[in-house]
Amino acid sequence: MTHIYLDNQATTPVDPRVLDAMLPYFKQDFGNAASRTHSYGWAAESAVDRGREQIAELIHGDAREIIFTSGATESDNLAIKGVAAVRRDRGGHLITQATEHHAVLDSCKALKRRGFDVTVLSVDRYGQVEPGAVSEAIREDTLLVSIMAANNEIGTLQPLAEIGAICRERNVLFHCDAAQAVGKLPVDVQAFGIDLLSISAHKLYGPKGVGALYVRSRPRVRLVAEIDGGGHERGMRSGTLNVPGIVGLGAACELAHAGMAAEGARIRRLRERLKTRLFDGMDDIHLNGHPEKRLDGNLNVSFEGVDGESLMVGLGEIALSSGSACTSASLEPSYVLRALGVPNRLAESSIRFGIGRFNTEAEIDTAAGRVIEEVGRLRDISPYASPKRKRS
Ligand SMILES: *Cc1c(COP(=O)(O)O)cnc(C)c1O
Repeated sequence: MTHIYLDNQATTPVDPRVLDAMLPYFKQDFGNAASRTHSYGWAAESAVDRGREQIAELIHGDAREIIFTSGATESDNLAIKGVAAVRRDRGGHLITQATEHHAVLDSCKALKRRGFDVTVLSVDRYGQVEPGAVSEAIREDTLLVSIMAANNEIGTLQPLAEIGAICRERNVLFHCDAAQAVGKLPVDVQAFGIDLLSISAHKLYGPKGVGALYVRSRPRVRLVAEIDGGGHERGMRSGTLNVPGIVGLGAACELAHAGMAAEGARIRRLRERLKTRLFDGMDDIHLNGHPEKRLDGNLNVSFEGVDGESLMVGLGEIALSSGSACTSASLEPSYVLRALGVPNRLAESSIRFGIGRFNTEAEIDTAAGRVIEEVGRLRDISPYASPKRKRS
């Protein structure tokens, strides 16, 4: 059975060039980057420094502003809880929006239990936040605005530059979960006025379990660490550095930077090809998310009268995600689609196609053909399908 991987928003395969860059740091160069007394330590430290530079280059930050973490979940927690903790018990107000990743929403919820106030902004039918709504929500005691760069389910991009300008003008910190955007489209912490930025290596063809948090140093953003210990990462994140992981993240950033424009165009062409085939090949299909302002590799669609889970089971040889089990632990329809006002019936019939670096045109054509076939079969046997929807 052929296997086609179309779930690149869940994770991406490690690029072989990234793996090659990492291997020496599992083998001969296994040193602890904190060891100052021998060449093993120095080699590890210089590899980590290089990684910091590669990341900083990609997001237009400075190497000294990069804190290594275990991934974007930890970066989101550190950014949000770390900024809030500077205030100790004085409380304060945070602003986020409804379609954020759980790492952001649940960090905010945890702060709410500790007495902070949280405003969760709603989004329009494409999943975008209105910058004016951010402006209106800012109060005297607002500490932080946390808005993602690109949504992991529907691919919708947020107007970061506008939101960043508002935060800057109102003297509020701006955190951005850019796990889906970094390495895929230009993310510039200077141009967008971002103070804290979360990155995950495994979303850009790097290894799992490593990420970074950009923390602005001018003007300096103060953070309280979540993990105490040896004082690594300028005291903001203790723990022996994951040297091979950091080398992999750095290499992944450099590769993404060099190939971004060409790769984005290629992946967008594949996405448009898939979209055209599906929309030409059947009726009663709806696009979820923004028609243009979305990740190049993301296509999220609802197939009326078809249960997304059943469709995925039927398409067993193609790796996809469905909006009915996006958080996979729950069988609730996607909270992201619900925030857009997508009715439950359509949310439950949604599928996310995530196209990436290693997908080919032939895979797209095979997948499109199989989806059309399987949707037709499910509609034929569905007791709920309208006669119009049934194939004659
Ligand atoms: C994947 C993802 C995360 C979590 O990243 P991990 O490195 O897996 O912890 C957070 N936010 C978004 C938008 C993501 O896509």
